[in-house]
Amino acid sequence: MQRIFAYALPALLLASLITIVACSTVPDSDRRSINFLKPSDEAAMGISEFKKMKGTLKISTNPTYNAQVQKVGNRLSKVMPVPNAEWEFVVFEDPTPNAFALPGGKVGVHTGLFQITQNEGGLAAVMGHEVAHVVARHSGERLSRGALSVGAVAVGTQVIKKQTGLNPAIVAAGLGAGASLSQLSHSREQELEADRLGALYMARAGYHPEESVRLWERFSDYRKKSSQSQGPAFLRTHPLDETRIAQLQEYLPTAMKEYKP
Ligand SMILES: [Zn+2]
Repeated sequence: MQRIFAYALPALLLASLITIVACSTVPDSDRRSINFLKPSDEAAMGISEFKKMKGTLKISTNPTYNAQVQKVGNRLSKVMPVPNAEWEFVVFEDPTPNAFALPGGKVGVHTGLFQITQNEGGLAAVMGHEVAHVVARHSGERLSRGALSVGAVAVGTQVIKKQTGLNPAIVAAGLGAGASLSQLSHSREQELEADRLGALYMARAGYHPEESVRLWERFSDYRKKSSQSQGPAFLRTHPLDETRIAQLQEYLPTAMKEYKP
């Protein structure tokens, strides 16, 4: 009985602290999310991980790809509220059609993505979607949920000690392993939220949001034609194409209200 209480009390304290310090509202979305990382800690993790990636992965010098990524990135960065952003846009030499964004405003685009994006609007759709994950702080939310399920009591103790948040080392310890932000998969709910926010931000940046629908249609065709049964990780972790295209079409009138060509 006493033993149970010893575990139950910290868990109870943790639950109330999460309500106090860890509940935040996702910008431009009315969803409340649990996230007990500090935005500055998230940014530090993203910036450090991106630095390592630049040191180990091959960076593309293709002038066309780089110019397009800089242009789209510059326009998006002006309308996307990323906490503690040190914006950087890098093209990596990799044939898989992929892109990613890390907290701190670090964005990577694979050379293999351009066969699908095909134009600036298509690239804005993918980059807008990826940075929307950062705006909504999805990786911090994933880490918070992961830490809760793996080591709720241990993490809770640290929350109590620090009151406002955790540093990256504690989060990693809570997960039981060094977590890699760029390899975290997002939930279906997070993906659909990133689609909506991505369309909204591309509209604010002056790109027609309907380009996002075209982009996901091209991704869908790519997947159907792809001989690989599984396809790249980017496609595996995303919701069914039909679901996201239908949702985006429904959301278009909302995004269009903010479209400034
Ligand atoms: Zn995504």
